[in-house]
Amino acid sequence: MRQEERKTIHAAVLGAVLFLLIQIFRTPLGLIEDKDLLIALYLILGCCTVAFGFAIFAQGWLLFSSRLSRARLYTSALFLGVSIFDFLHVLGFTGIPGIAPYISMEQSLWLLTFSRLASALGIVLIFCHADQPVEAASKNKVFRNAFLILLLAGAVFGFGNLWVSGLDEYVWAATARNLMNMAVLFVYLFGVGIIIYPGKREKSASLLIIIRSLVFFALGQVFFMNLFSVGEMDYLFGMLSSAAAYYLLLTGVYRLTLEEPFQENQEAEARINYLAYHDELTGLPNRRRLMQRMEEIVLQSEKDKSRGFSGLVIMNINHFKNINDSLGHYAGDLLLQLVSRRIGDEVKEGEELFSMGADEFAFLMTERTGLEHCLVRAGELLQLFDTPVGLESGEYHISLSLGVSIYPGDGDTAEQLIQNADTAVHNAKEQGVEIRRYIPAMQMKAKERLKLENDLRRALERDEFYLVYQPQVLLETEEIVGMEALLRWNHPKRGLVSPVDFIPIAEESGLIVPIGEWVLRTACLQNKMWQNAGYQPICVSINLSMRQFLQPNLAGKIDAILREIGLDPCYVDLEITESMTLDKETAFDQLIRLKRLGVCISIDDFGTGYSSLHYLKNMPIDRLKIDRSFVSDVMEDSNNAAIVSTITSMAHHLKLKVTAEGVENQEQLQFLRQQHCHEAQGYLFSKPVKAAEFEQSFLKPLLEIPS
Ligand code: C2E
Ligand code: MG
Ligand code: MG
Repeated sequence: MRQEERKTIHAAVLGAVLFLLIQIFRTPLGLIEDKDLLIALYLILGCCTVAFGFAIFAQGWLLFSSRLSRARLYTSALFLGVSIFDFLHVLGFTGIPGIAPYISMEQSLWLLTFSRLASALGIVLIFCHADQPVEAASKNKVFRNAFLILLLAGAVFGFGNLWVSGLDEYVWAATARNLMNMAVLFVYLFGVGIIIYPGKREKSASLLIIIRSLVFFALGQVFFMNLFSVGEMDYLFGMLSSAAAYYLLLTGVYRLTLEEPFQENQEAEARINYLAYHDELTGLPNRRRLMQRMEEIVLQSEKDKSRGFSGLVIMNINHFKNINDSLGHYAGDLLLQLVSRRIGDEVKEGEELFSMGADEFAFLMTERTGLEHCLVRAGELLQLFDTPVGLESGEYHISLSLGVSIYPGDGDTAEQLIQNADTAVHNAKEQGVEIRRYIPAMQMKAKERLKLENDLRRALERDEFYLVYQPQVLLETEEIVGMEALLRWNHPKRGLVSPVDFIPIAEESGLIVPIGEWVLRTACLQNKMWQNAGYQPICVSINLSMRQFLQPNLAGKIDAILREIGLDPCYVDLEITESMTLDKETAFDQLIRLKRLGVCISIDDFGTGYSSLHYLKNMPIDRLKIDRSFVSDVMEDSNNAAIVSTITSMAHHLKLKVTAEGVENQEQLQFLRQQHCHEAQGYLFSKPVKAAEFEQSFLKPLLEIPS
C-alpha cells in the first residue's frame, strides 16, 4: 500500500476516533458554559475556514495561470461562492453586533446548509471526472458561469430569506433544512465512494487527499446536523472539521492542479532527455552523448595542457550482419546486449562506454597518462571476446575490430576524433586486423571506397571482370583434380583491384548478386569449353557470397545455367563459408536444394568462422577447405599445427574431403601429407592464372597418345 493511501485510511480512522471521543466525553463537554468563549472560538475557526476557502479560490484563479485545468478553475470558482456563504454564516451565527439584525440565526443556518450543499455537489461533480487542461481563454467562461451561479444562489437565498423570515412557524422549515443536510451528508459519502471506487483508474496522491477532505466534510456535517448532539459544542466541532476539510482540499487541489502536472512535466522531460542521449536496446549513452563528452574533454584539455592523453576506441562486431541475417534480429539484439554487458563490466574509473548504434560501440578513456596505456587498454578489450558468447541457439565466437583515435594528435574537435576512430575501424576491417590507430592516410581510403562502389556499378556492363583459375592438387598423386575460379577486376584507371577490396563493397551494395551470377556462368562455360575441347574433365570451385547464398531461388538459377551450358553438375563445386550456416535450418534447406542438383559443396576458410565441427556432420557438405592462415605458419606455430591436424582427422571421421589452402612450401606440403590431407591449393603449385595459361600449364588431353 502506498504512503498516501495509508494516510487516507489514517485520516478516516482519526475522524472516527474524534467523533467517538466527543461522544464519550459529551457530558463533561456539555458542561462548558462559557458561551462567549464558545462564540469566540467559533468565530476564529470560522474565519480560518473562510480563509482556507478564499485561499482555494486565489490559488486556482491567480497563481501559475499558464497551467490551468478544469478541476482547478471550477474548484476555485466554487469556493469563492462557498466562502462567501460561510463568511455570512459565521457573521450571523456569532451574532456580531451590527450584523445580527440583518442575518438571523435561522438564516445563518440556511446559509451554512447552502454552503455545504454547494461544496458537496461541486466537489463530487468536479472530482469524479479525470482532470483536463484548459485554455487560458476558458478562464473567462468559467468565471462567467461561476458568476451566474453565484447570482442564482444569491437570488435563491434572497428569496428564501424573505420566505423564511415570513414564516412564523419554523418547524416545517427546520425539517426541510434537516432533510437537505441529510442529502448533503449522503453526497459527501457518495463522493468518497465514487472517487475511491475500485474499478476506476489508479488514485493519484492528490485525489486521496481530496477523499480525506471529504471524510472531514462528512464528519462536520454530522455535527452540524445535531445528529448526536453534545449541546452547544456541536457547531464548534462542525466548524473544526470543516476547517480541516478546507485545509485538506486546499492542499489536494494544489497538488492535483499544480504539483502533479509539474512533476509529470519534469518526468516527461527527463524521459525525453534520456531517450535523446541513450540507446534504447543497450541502455548505454549514445553517439550524441559521446559527442558532448568529447567536446567537454577537448575544452578541458585546452585549458589544462597537462591533462595527458584521452583515447577513443570505436569497436565494431565482425560479421554482425551475417548473424542478424541468418539468426534473426532477436538474436542480433540479444548479442548486442551481451556484448555491451561484457564490455560494460570491464569499464573502470576514467572510462566510459557508449553505443554508436547498430553493431558499434565506443570506449572512451578520459584519464590516460600515456599513449601506450590507451593502446594496451584497447588490446585488453579485444581479449574479452576470447570466450564465446552464449545465445539461445548455441555458443558463438565473435571478434571485434577496433579503431583508435587519440587526443591530442588525431583530431582537434570532438567530431574529427570520432570520425577518425571510425575511419580507423573501417581500415582495420579492410585489412583484416584487430586494432588500428588512425593515421591521416586512412582518410583517403574512406573516400576511395565510395568511388570504388560507383565504379563497381558500371564494371559488369563495361566488361571489366575476368576470372583466374588456381589449380587444386591431389596430394597422393600430385594430379590436378580441380581449380578454383577467382574473380579479378580490371579497373580502367586503377588497374587490377583485389577481390578482398571490392567483394565486401559488392556485398554491401547488393551488386554481388549479378556479379556472382556472371562468375557462375563464366566459370561453368569455361569448364564446359575445356571439356568440349577434349581435356580431362575437372571440377571448378566457385565462391558464393552470403547474399547469393540467401537467395531463395539460388538452386533454380544454378540449375538453369548448368542446363543452358550443358555442364554436368558433378564438375561444379560451390564454396560457402561457415558464417553462412549460422542459421542452421535455412542453410540446411538451401544446401539440400543445391545438393539435389548434383553439385559439390565445400566450406571455405574453415576454422575462421563461428561454427564447430559437431553440427557439420548433419550438413550435406562434401569438403572442408582449411583456411590459409592456419596453413601458412603450420611449421612455426604449434597451435596452428594442432588445428590443422584436428580438422583433418575430424573430417576423416565425418567422411569429408579436406583441402588445404595457401600451401607455399615443401615443408607445409610434407606436414599436410603426414596428416593425410587430401588436396592442396597454393602458390607452391601455382598462383591463380588466366584461362589460357591454365589450359596450357595444367590441363591434360583426355586421350593421351602413347609415345
Ligand atoms: P578464397 O576463396 O579463400 O580464395 C583463396 C585466396 O587465397 C585467393 O585470393 C588466392 O589467390 C589466395 N591464395 C591461394 N593460394 C595462396 C598462397 O599460397 N598464398 C597466399 N598468400 N594466398 C594464396 P584472391 O583471389 O585474392 O581472393 C580472395 C578472396 O576473395 C577469396 O578467398 C574469396 O573469398 C573472394 N573471392 C574471390 N573470387 C570470388 C568470387 O567470384 N565470388 C566471391 N563471392 N568471392 C570471391
Ligand atoms: Mg574460395
Ligand atoms: Mg579460402
